[in-house]
Amino acid sequence: MAMKLSGCLCGQFHSSGAGMGLAEDRVSVPIPFYVLEHADGVALFDAGVPAAMLDRNDSYLAALQGQGMDVSLAPEETVTARLEALDIDPARVRHVVLSHLHFDHAGGLRELPNATLVVQRREWEAGFEPELSARYGLRKRYFDLGHPVVLVDGEHDLFGDGSAVCVPSHGHTPGHQSLRVRSEQGDHILVGDACYSCEVVETRAFPDYSDHDAMNASLDRLLALREPGTVMVYGHDRSQWGETPVLPTARA
Ligand SMILES: [Zn+2]
Repeated sequence: MAMKLSGCLCGQFHSSGAGMGLAEDRVSVPIPFYVLEHADGVALFDAGVPAAMLDRNDSYLAALQGQGMDVSLAPEETVTARLEALDIDPARVRHVVLSHLHFDHAGGLRELPNATLVVQRREWEAGFEPELSARYGLRKRYFDLGHPVVLVDGEHDLFGDGSAVCVPSHGHTPGHQSLRVRSEQGDHILVGDACYSCEVVETRAFPDYSDHDAMNASLDRLLALREPGTVMVYGHDRSQWGETPVLPTARA
């Protein structure tokens, strides 16, 4: 069954290089989400940052700035605007597979009223557990919005035809998952934040708060899933979203 895969950029994240596992002092990295147009409906992998961050006075933005981070977002970069540029009404999105519950991956859920969320059970449960949600920065305001939720334990075939398969890749957060996609665009592993960038594949410079043993094991497993021609699409990789984007993209 033919399925189309595209990528959309939903703003930029600014932080210390160390925070992203990079050598520079300060870095700006893309915040992608992905659109799967399948005969059975539209699915997203991740949902960008909240449109509320268009307001520079947004309270979570202020909290990030207090920790030396920032997000820039333009009106044409919101989840809604990016979907509309692909001729997709956000109300038509049926599934959102969430790699994890961070604000830059779940932030756009408020704009997707009719979606069913597909989340690893241990991620969802961590989101409601005070100690884990605090340690990992999982904010209920971005994901606990009343959507139906499918809780997954391990692998999950989204459409039942092998075109999009959730692959658990815990460590960045307690129940992080990646998505293996076979589409008209080829064979991709949407890694999510199991690895921020191609640089980190080599350095394994993972975030401080994450479980490094689990991240190493998860990344090794994802790399071992590659077949000839498989393209790994990393969570926040500048080189993959430069002059030659790794996936077809809607740029308004
Ligand atoms: Zn992220």
